[in-house]
Amino acid sequence: MKTVLVVEDNELNLDMLSRRLARRGFLVVSARDGTEALEAARRHRPDLILLDLSLPHLDGWTAARILKSEEQTKPIPIIALTAHALSGDREKAEESGCDDYDTKPVEIVRLLAKIKQWTKPGTGEVAV
Ligand code: MN
Repeated sequence: MKTVLVVEDNELNLDMLSRRLARRGFLVVSARDGTEALEAARRHRPDLILLDLSLPHLDGWTAARILKSEEQTKPIPIIALTAHALSGDREKAEESGCDDYDTKPVEIVRLLAKIKQWTKPGTGEVAV
């Protein structure tokens, strides 16, 4: 079973996305701000992180940068999620170390395809 860390400060979005992923067989761990995201990633070593970029305490860009600078969390693929459809957001997410990017509101079929792609064996697996 693949573990996905969902980082989202909007309670409704977090709940909806978590349920959808759980229904499709993922083990879901959640975090509600950037600081919690770092803690959860270090503790659970998820197979993938869905990272909202606009977060309290520590924004998603900063959290991504920190996660990608640490040996233990570096290999975990990060898909950035943002509501801002501005063209610069994708570049900014990539510069922060995010591996992929998707827009909110989430289109679950499209997002699942990305999640599957990034959790395929040999792709972003944490070597133990
Ligand atoms: Mn947010």
